[in-house]
Amino acid sequence: MTHPGDFSYALRDVHVVFGMGAIGHLARSIDAALAASRLFLVSTPGRAAVVDSARTALGDRVVGEFDRARLHVPSALVSEALDCARAAEPDAVVAIGGGSAIGLGKAMVKEEGWPLVAVPTTYAGSEMTNIWGISDGNRKVTGRSPVVAPRVVVYDPMVTIGMPAHVTGPSGMNAMAHAVEALYSETGSPVASLLAVDGLRRLAGSLPTLVDEPEDRAARADALLGAHLCARALDMTSMGLHHKLCHVLGGLCNLPHALTHAVVLPHVVAFNSPAAPEAVRIVAEALGAANAAQELWRLNSRIGITETLADIGLDADDLDRVVGAVTAASYPNPREVTREGVREILCSAMDGGPPT
Ligand code: NAD
Repeated sequence: MTHPGDFSYALRDVHVVFGMGAIGHLARSIDAALAASRLFLVSTPGRAAVVDSARTALGDRVVGEFDRARLHVPSALVSEALDCARAAEPDAVVAIGGGSAIGLGKAMVKEEGWPLVAVPTTYAGSEMTNIWGISDGNRKVTGRSPVVAPRVVVYDPMVTIGMPAHVTGPSGMNAMAHAVEALYSETGSPVASLLAVDGLRRLAGSLPTLVDEPEDRAARADALLGAHLCARALDMTSMGLHHKLCHVLGGLCNLPHALTHAVVLPHVVAFNSPAAPEAVRIVAEALGAANAAQELWRLNSRIGITETLADIGLDADDLDRVVGAVTAASYPNPREVTREGVREILCSAMDGGPPT
């Protein structure tokens, strides 16, 4: 494709159900797309109540469970979960939780080819993508494969009711980061942009309400729909410097995934702004502000994210290693990624003041 405005994207076979109380109809939603009578549940320990609802909805179709999913999908845990699942002989895996549970489900189906069903409980967005990731020590390997893309996704805002502000805020900003990078992605398209803009608008509107009123149903529905739209934009595009940087900070320095995205995003947007003025103008417009980077920083403060990168675990001694890893290979980003540029972003995010 050689003309500005040309684009391509692939659509996958995924059945998406969105509804208040949808987890109660989980069996019906699965049956609409899959012939699966033996289901293996995967979750994190904290989501026991949601898993109870799923178990009630699925009855004796549940043939086994693994409830110890952890952040960054450690390879040893994947082996353990696979041993449990193989013994149960399922014909589908149902992952219930945030990106950690869905990530473990993806790593399992990557090995065995079982279809994956996802019930997301955060705004991370893994449920709509074919991206998998597995960590080994402080190295995280990621890739894309059609095998890991969930075949059924059930969104139920009820499972997010009461999500505390310290999970809601960072997770919502993680979703917004997908939309921001989709808007300036070299594989972007008008379709991805539509999804990204509406996703940004919904999350920017609902997150402040949710940190004040975690039980607000309408805001929960809006945020989850926003996260879905951002995840679809992520799936249709390749991500740039922001995702690379957060990936390195998570893998190399063990920084928390969603909070790292939230803290870094305003500073990467400030860095990329001169090279992607139209995309950044669209982000600002979706946020109802004049300056996208400063508005993202202000939104962070409004929803209680006041930490700096130093506060969440980045040591000044690690800066060289991070800069080296982020600049080791080239990848598409609107502005050329230099060692100085990455260092500047990291220093701003370690300082914590508004981006300039
Ligand atoms: P997570 O799944 O670890 O959840 C974060 C925390 O929130 C956990 O303590 C969890 O117990 C808690 N939690 C989850 N749902 C909750 C709810 N409804 N109420 C209260 N607490 C809740 O983390 P995450 O941020 O959802 O996902 C991060 C992981 O997902 C990372 O490993 C990241 O790499 C991956 N990810 C992958 C993709 C992809 O496309 N493959 C996209 C985004 C994120």
